[in-house]
Amino acid sequence: MTVTGLPPVLRVGQGFDIHRFSGAPGRPLVLGGVIIDGVAGLAGHSDADVVAHALADALLGAVGLGDLGRHFPDTDPAWAGADSLALLAAVVSLVEGEGMQAVNADCTVVCERPRLAEHTQEMGLRLGAVLSAPVSVKATRAEGLGALGRVEGIACLAVALVAGTVP
Ligand code: MG
Repeated sequence: MTVTGLPPVLRVGQGFDIHRFSGAPGRPLVLGGVIIDGVAGLAGHSDADVVAHALADALLGAVGLGDLGRHFPDTDPAWAGADSLALLAAVVSLVEGEGMQAVNADCTVVCERPRLAEHTQEMGLRLGAVLSAPVSVKATRAEGLGALGRVEGIACLAVALVAGTVP
């Protein structure tokens, strides 16, 4: 905490996203900006990167700017097939427009298959480069339970802390 000037303002936000597998063989699986080879991707209007989407929602929540769908509607052809890291970068700009910047973020991907352990560090680095802040990405299985356990899709939870001097 600073002892001079305006005191820092801290805000926390949480995000959640879930997408079903597309079943389309040629569609890449993109998670945290990383393409996972050998697996058909998730269905979605953009590249369906659930990790980037959950993180973006956490950031928007922290500054009270609603959710990703409000800013980038999935009915807008401009975002068809969009690179979600570009959407995330646009959200970072919105956060900065509120006089805030990311401090850190933590994401948990719930994914039965494929195994993500060897990709989580790279995801964190890519997402962190967009936020200019440390981003942790963890992966957990659904232990065979429910739709996620039946490998029908992938979900992600995220929490983000932002700081600024604007009350
Ligand atoms: Mg999404």
